[in-house]
Amino acid sequence: MKYAKNVHELIGNTPLVEITSFPLPEGVRLFAKLEYFNPGGSVKDRLGQYLLKRAFADGKLKEGGTIIEPTAGNTGIGLALAAIQFKVNAIFVVPEKFSMEKQTLMRALGARIVNTPTERGMAGAIAKAKELLDTIPDAFYPGQFQNAANPDTYYESLGPELYKDLDGHIDIFIAGAGSGGTFMGTSRYLKEKIPHIKTVIVEPEGSILNGGKSGPHRTEGIGMEFLPPFMEKSYFDQIYTIPDDVAFARLADAARQEGLLVGSSSGAALEAALREAEQAKPGTNIVTIFADSSERYISSGIYS
Ligand code: PMP
Repeated sequence: MKYAKNVHELIGNTPLVEITSFPLPEGVRLFAKLEYFNPGGSVKDRLGQYLLKRAFADGKLKEGGTIIEPTAGNTGIGLALAAIQFKVNAIFVVPEKFSMEKQTLMRALGARIVNTPTERGMAGAIAKAKELLDTIPDAFYPGQFQNAANPDTYYESLGPELYKDLDGHIDIFIAGAGSGGTFMGTSRYLKEKIPHIKTVIVEPEGSILNGGKSGPHRTEGIGMEFLPPFMEKSYFDQIYTIPDDVAFARLADAARQEGLLVGSSSGAALEAALREAEQAKPGTNIVTIFADSSERYISSGIYS
């Protein structure tokens, strides 16, 4: 018999697929890690499980306690799954603009949602979460935007998986950044193992990495309003700022040409990967992360 003892065991070890329908220079290969194969549907399932495991190990959280986190959605779903695993309550503070599907899924997994005004951005959600923290007993703040355990999640899981999947033959690693945990932790692991690797970070317009001003964008899950303390600029070998329209065109290509139903952050990552591929030498292997699927954005018109 081959089965998992519970859904939590199914987090990680996601499939890696080669992207073959785009014209690439001779000898350049492109791969994508399909993080929507995680049970909660995104790269953030890894984070939820890891943060709560660490909080229990450090004695910061115990059964029956409550986690409170500001989240754009996927982190909430990952943490809500982990809250079931570790038998704690979950409250998420979500700016209104974020996808209804994600908020519905968090509720389905037993979490409580507190909405904050869209205009106040993630900073508004963070402030509200801190306020709640002071009023609820046995509360723990996972703090994905400050907690160094965020990048550690990916240093310990996604990085090693990619390295193993491709037998260490990776020349360029590309990932979008929201909190930056995925990019930072995976890059740190891969640079230790593969000193020549180029690590490429991706943001939408309306994010600050390329010196732009923080502002609204339609690409969900990536984009920074401030630089979290665990981000190290020395890992930004290249920064791509991908306009929303381009990200959405690419996610449509991914569906039609590859049969990959991915979200807009994956569209941005794909565009960055294709730009890198264009300039790459024969023999270059590029790998990127498709963080979630399009299904949770249908009602926000992802394919229209
Ligand atoms: N893509 C999507 C769809 C996401 O939800 C997130 C997480 N916000 C990311 C990419 C980026 O992940 P990270 O927070 O690790 O930078």
